[in-house]
Amino acid sequence: MASIALKSFIGLRQTTSENKSIVLSKPTTQTHRNFRINASKSSPRVTGRNLRVAVVGGGPAGGAAAETLAKGGVETFLFERKLDNCKPCGGAIPLCMVGEFDLPLDIIDRRVTKMKMISPSNVAVDIGRTLKPHEYIGMVRREVLDAYLRDRATTAGATVINGLFLKMDLPKSTGSPYVLHYSDYNAKTGGAGEKKTVEVDAVIGADGANSRVAKNINAGEYEYAIAFQERIKISDDKMKYYEDLAEMYVGDDVSPDFYGWVFPKCDHVAVGTGTVTHKGDIKKLQIATRLRARDKIEGGTIIRVEAHPIPEHPRPRRVLDRVALVGDAAGYVTKCSGEGIYFAAKSGRMCAEAIVEGSENGKRMVDESDLRKYLEKWDKTYWPTYKVLDVLQKVFYRSNPAREAFVEMCADEYVQKMTFDSYLYKKVVPGNPLDDLKLAVNTIGSLVRANALRKEMEKLSV
Ligand SMILES: Cc1cc2nc3c(=O)[nH]c(=O)nc-3n(C[C@H](O)[C@H](O)[C@H](O)COP(=O)(O)OP(=O)(O)OC[C@H]3O[C@@H](n4cnc5c(N)ncnc54)[C@H](O)[C@@H]3O)c2cc1C
Repeated sequence: MASIALKSFIGLRQTTSENKSIVLSKPTTQTHRNFRINASKSSPRVTGRNLRVAVVGGGPAGGAAAETLAKGGVETFLFERKLDNCKPCGGAIPLCMVGEFDLPLDIIDRRVTKMKMISPSNVAVDIGRTLKPHEYIGMVRREVLDAYLRDRATTAGATVINGLFLKMDLPKSTGSPYVLHYSDYNAKTGGAGEKKTVEVDAVIGADGANSRVAKNINAGEYEYAIAFQERIKISDDKMKYYEDLAEMYVGDDVSPDFYGWVFPKCDHVAVGTGTVTHKGDIKKLQIATRLRARDKIEGGTIIRVEAHPIPEHPRPRRVLDRVALVGDAAGYVTKCSGEGIYFAAKSGRMCAEAIVEGSENGKRMVDESDLRKYLEKWDKTYWPTYKVLDVLQKVFYRSNPAREAFVEMCADEYVQKMTFDSYLYKKVVPGNPLDDLKLAVNTIGSLVRANALRKEMEKLSV
């Protein structure tokens, strides 16, 4: 399945030549960046109005997309079915997201500087030892982060519609509009909402793993993990332990192909796990995760239980005509870590930038080639990250001995530094050749020991 994923991570197209330099700016009540863009073609001008784009889904992907579109002069409609949505999520975000998206520190519940990786035999390694004083992993509650990003989109000029997107009619001819059908919950007509339609020139599908926009363009399916999480309120004393500390548990008991976690939030911890291969066992795996952390969460009260699919790889199709998918709707969660918040916000922003650029600040019609520029940039920037994490998952999450080897390796400061730098800054960090060689030798050593251990265990179980 993973190899299919990587093969399908291709969406490159030729760009055309005409280059015009324009400045991205739209007067708003908020100050924002002006950045230079290069328009590369002359599509028809839209007259009497600006380009209209619908963003379906108000999570990190949709919020970031809508803000960028509105700032760039595009008439933007952001659809969100539930404005107080608590997306089931661990809520761990990398440091670079805080900077790149100008997130205020008061929406971050915890700054984690200690991350314990715990092996199947409960050997714990602190993998945060190489962090610099200003570095941390942010822990957010999604209801807080998502609402904040949507509010920013509103401030930038987007119209937020509290409504459920139902379906869309595709354009009947080149340049004619998409007609979106939705239930409008703004109009106070009871729970079902009022059926309405809106016409737009382009659509961004940011509606998550069960995307209806993806279905509308026959984007194809993806393999997915099911992730389960409980928010557990524990005593202040117990919370002290998790003040700036998160835990990751690996082992067949907590997940045959993923990891279990305890992530700290403002006044509770989020305890969860996920699996692709044993979805029917998810509750059993969750109980095992809770058991592993039992001493530290003892006496706690479960205040919320949540579960949701996590995509395993990009959809076969991510762009069709003037429709693009971003975030989970496109399938941008990394293997191994299950991380998707940053990639959602980033892909939403990148896609919106491509539309702003292609439309010359909302003045011209866009076409598929404009939207494909987003795919081209995305694949070029992040393909190596997805590939590396895919390989890591295959090597280290396949058996308990391999996981013991993985945790053993995590004790190495060089491994910690490389891992954290890559996670926090989303850049492939150039290594030191001597340390790389040492790491390779150590990895092989750990894996050989893991293999020997596996064989011994197999003998024992015969
Ligand atoms: C249990 C769990 C733990 C996770 N932990 C982490 C973590 O710690 N760190 C991390 O980086 N990632 C984590 N992830 C992954 C992360 O949650 C997703 O990758 C991320 O939420 C994707 O953002 P998105 O904006 O693409 O989609 P979503 O966050 O799913 O947002 C989609 C939005 O669209 C709305 N919507 C859907 N359909 C419609 C419709 N028809 N009409 C109108 N609105 C609609 C939804 O209400 C929702 O608000 C976790 C996932 C799970 C399930």
